[in-house]
Amino acid sequence: MEHHERTKSHEMISIACPFFNEEKLVDKFFTRLIPVLNAIKNPFEVICVNDGSTDLTLMKLMEQSKIHKQLVIIDLSRNFGKEAALTAALDYASGSAVIPIDVDLQDPPELIPKMIEVWCGGAEVVLARRRDRRSDTWAKRSSALMFYRIHNMLSESPIPENVGDFRLMDRKVVEAIKDLPESRRFMKGIFAWVGFKTEIIEYTRDERVAGESKFNGWRLWNFALEGITSFSTAPLRVWLYLGIIVASISMSYALIIAFKTIIFGIKVPGYASLIVSTLFLGGIQLVGIGVLGEYIGRIYLESKRRPKYIVREVHANGRLENK
Ligand code: UDP
Ligand code: MG
Repeated sequence: MEHHERTKSHEMISIACPFFNEEKLVDKFFTRLIPVLNAIKNPFEVICVNDGSTDLTLMKLMEQSKIHKQLVIIDLSRNFGKEAALTAALDYASGSAVIPIDVDLQDPPELIPKMIEVWCGGAEVVLARRRDRRSDTWAKRSSALMFYRIHNMLSESPIPENVGDFRLMDRKVVEAIKDLPESRRFMKGIFAWVGFKTEIIEYTRDERVAGESKFNGWRLWNFALEGITSFSTAPLRVWLYLGIIVASISMSYALIIAFKTIIFGIKVPGYASLIVSTLFLGGIQLVGIGVLGEYIGRIYLESKRRPKYIVREVHANGRLENK
């Protein structure tokens, strides 16, 4: 253990941060992050992915990289979404440990030394868990809770609750994640799926310091669907059982009708039951087809084998580098 600790304190730490229209935050973020990193013994690099920002984010990042030589800027060709931006950051990170962090300072950088300490103690993944979600709205809190419940019921690799992307991952873990070939990446699920020896530390999540959250309403709903369909085929399998149940109910109903007809003769009325069962079954079938469609769509997108993101330029050590 002692030996472990001594060697790891010389190893490179990579901080991975996605930026999408965060011009108001760039300076604030580095003002808080850099002193924390300067205080640790390890050498470090900060991989900044500019996820197609349309404001001054890139310019501000370039300014910062003149002051802090440890910055590597990956400029993506357009907005690919946080998951893709994070994937890019992991691909370019060279450290023995990688720490993804949101730049809105909702993930306190002050936790990083503690994470490194736990990593030095032998953990391969160090999760930062929010003590509560007081900084989120009621709607976000309850929908998140429901999402975790449903996802974890259906998926073989449960996602720990109240844990975001803020965590430390050993190089082994990062390599395992990079080896996953899928191009649609639900990072929380992927992180959980690869496993490894995990320790948890707790923190209180702050409010976003400036700017606005990019995940609201519809986007969150799609994110949740993405999460469930990425890691579970239960929504597909449910139709088998639903089919069996409906079929056996109709069988018994058919027997009852046949029996009645034999004993009491034919009675014509039956409009209500006919229309109700037709509409009900029609609705159920449409939902079933919708679920099938969702998965076929995923197969379609996956089969195109497009890259997960496209890099315009990489800037490191204040220079433009080839990809
Ligand atoms: N982000 C990104 N691409 C996007 C949306 C967000 O890189 O398309 C980044 C954003 O700049 C921030 C992080 O992802 O660093 C988290 O975003 P946000 O704070 O909006 O999410 P929330 O905390 O509300 O879940
Ligand atoms: Mg945030």
